[in-house]
Amino acid sequence: MDKKCPSCNKDISSDIFELHQVHCERFLTKCDECKEMIPKANLENHKKELHAKLKCSYCQKQFEEKEIGIHKAICENRPRPCLFCGAVMELNELIKHEEDCGNRTDECEACGKYVTIKNMPQHLVECFEEIENRAPSVRKRKMSEEKKPNKKRLRKNKG
Ligand SMILES: [Zn+2]
Ligand SMILES: [Zn+2]
Ligand SMILES: [Zn+2]
Ligand SMILES: [Zn+2]
Ligand SMILES: [Zn+2]
Repeated sequence: MDKKCPSCNKDISSDIFELHQVHCERFLTKCDECKEMIPKANLENHKKELHAKLKCSYCQKQFEEKEIGIHKAICENRPRPCLFCGAVMELNELIKHEEDCGNRTDECEACGKYVTIKNMPQHLVECFEEIENRAPSVRKRKMSEEKKPNKKRLRKNKG
């Protein structure tokens, strides 16, 4: 008959059970990471192989091998693309880079003015508005009226 060893949960035949149990308690130890019984002499290796802590290269924190992939995907220092040019880099670099990158100037395709890249989206909106306002068909009455929100376009009856 086999008996279950309480230390290692293995079925051990009863004729060596006591021997085993003594051996088990003496030479095995529970791995605190995975709760397996590991020979004490192997524990270090076991931990190194199965529970080795790896350093996240982004934040320098340590994680188990099986966790590091998940962590790296959500690490707050993980590389992200620059808002302006799309270059991917780690956060600490990116902060500096975006500052410089956003302050580069580029020529507005619509008006030809040089505008900083970070202001370009805003500029383009204004620029297109201005171009529309300048369009000859809507030009006449605008001069004195300034910018009112035009709910309805009033037409004066003439003649
Ligand atoms: Zn055992
Ligand atoms: Zn373990
Ligand atoms: Zn990290
Ligand atoms: Zn950039
Ligand atoms: Zn422009």
